Amino acid sequence: MIVVYCPQCYGMNTEKDETCRHCGGLLLEAGGKPYLEKLIWALKHPEPTVSPRAAWVLGERRESQAVEPLISAIDGASDMALLEEAVVALGKIGDPRAIPCLERALRDSYLSVRQRAAWALGRIGGPVVIEVLTSAVDDPNQTVREAALAALSSLSNRTGHQS
Ligand SMILES: [Zn+2]
Repeated sequence: MIVVYCPQCYGMNTEKDETCRHCGGLLLEAGGKPYLEKLIWALKHPEPTVSPRAAWVLGERRESQAVEPLISAIDGASDMALLEEAVVALGKIGDPRAIPCLERALRDSYLSVRQRAAWALGRIGGPVVIEVLTSAVDDPNQTVREAALAALSSLSNRTGHQS
């Protein structure tokens, strides 16, 4: 049986269903959506391997339209793989809108996510980021301290090259 996920409620259906068993919505609509919309939709996918992959692709594509969906995915997620990939994606996209979300991830998340949040902030840069990273240099956790230092030094290298 091929599982078809409802584009409205993410409920599971079979390929033979035309309307969703859970919410009654049309199942055919998902197929016709543009690729970007499908990727953003997939950030909330119930299958645990799908959402991290979608976040990764959005980061690789530097999709600025994905910034807000990635932020809300991070705020609503507890899955480590999704958190890691979404944080990295926000760093690759490099949009300052992600700073408050990444600051939260840097302070309070899984260690691997905190580490990636420092890297992502380093990719975005700016005075606010420098402030956030500088305060993370005093973090009780050594991995976080090192990640914050590395991000700060990558920022100062970049500034050095520009001037
Ligand atoms: Zn549904």
